[in-house]
Amino acid sequence: MGKRSHWREHPAHALRVDHGFRLESFDAAATPGFEGAQKHAERLMERRGADLAELQERLYAHGRAGGDRSMLLVLQGMDTAGKGGIVRHVLGMVDPQGVASRGFGVPTEEERAHHFLWRIDRALPQAGRIGVFDRSHYEDVLVVRVHGLVPEAVWQGRYSEINEWEAQVAERGTTIVKCALMVSPEEQLNRIEERLERPDKHWKYNPGDLDERAHWPAYMEAYQAVLDRTSTPSAPWHVIPADNKWYARLAVTELLASALESLELGWPQADFDVQAERERIARLRSKEV
Ligand code: AMP
Ligand code: MG
Repeated sequence: MGKRSHWREHPAHALRVDHGFRLESFDAAATPGFEGAQKHAERLMERRGADLAELQERLYAHGRAGGDRSMLLVLQGMDTAGKGGIVRHVLGMVDPQGVASRGFGVPTEEERAHHFLWRIDRALPQAGRIGVFDRSHYEDVLVVRVHGLVPEAVWQGRYSEINEWEAQVAERGTTIVKCALMVSPEEQLNRIEERLERPDKHWKYNPGDLDERAHWPAYMEAYQAVLDRTSTPSAPWHVIPADNKWYARLAVTELLASALESLELGWPQADFDVQAERERIARLRSKEV
C-alpha cells in the first residue's frame, strides 16, 4: 500500500466557494480534487482518521492547559445529504469525550422566544473541543426563507448578523469549518426510497421530506444566497458533492484534519518537574521490594 494521498488539489481549495460560484451548474456526483477510486479514499480516510484522532487529543490537551482554541464543524444540507453519516463516520474516529455534537430542529417554544442566534451561541464548543452542528443558524435563512416563516425584512437582515457573529466567534478562538453537503435530487429520491424499503430505516422516514422536495428550486436559491453572502475570510463555505458518501466523508475528514494542523498545537509542557517525579517513583519502588 503506497502512501500517495490521491488528492490532486487540496479540498480546502477545490471545494471552497469562490465569487461566481453557481449551484445550478454544480455536479453532486463529482469528486473535486481527488483522483483515486473509492478503495483509495477508504484507505486514506483510515490514515487521516488516525491523524485526526491525535490532532483532536492535542486540541483537548491544549484546552486542559488553559488554551482557548476550539473547532466548530457546521453541517448543512438537504434531507438525506449525509450529515448524520459525517458525524458517525468522521467524528466517530476521534475520542467522543472531545466532541460535542448538536442537532438543530424546529425551534422549541422557548427557543422561539429568543433571538435566532440564542440557541446556537449556547451550543458553541468549549475550549479544547470539536463542536459539530447538524443543521445550524443557517436554517434561519433556509427553511425560514423558503417557507416565509418570518417577514422578508427579518430574514434579509440575518446574513450580515450571521457574518458578524461568526467573526466574533472566530476572534475568540473557534475555527469555523462550514460544509454544505449537496446531494442531487435523483440521489435524494433513491435515499428516501431506501428508507422505506428497510424497516431499520423507517424511524428516519418523514413523509414531510417528500413535500419539502417540491420546494427544491426555492431551497437551491436560498442555498445560493447563503453561499454568496456568508462565505467570509473568517468562516468560508465549502460545497461538498454528496452523491458519493465516501467522497464527502473523506473530504470533511481532510478539511477538519488540516484545519487542526493549521493551529500548530504542540503537546503542552508539563507543569511539574518530570525528573523529580521519576525519582519519587524510583524511591517508592525501592521501598516496596
Ligand atoms: P432533522 O435534521 O431530520 O432532524 O430535521 C430537522 C428539521 O428541523 C428540518 O426539517 C429543519 O428544516 C427544521 N428546522 C431546523 N431549524 C429550523 C428553524 N430555525 N426554523 C424552522 N425549522 C427548522
Ligand atoms: Mg430529516
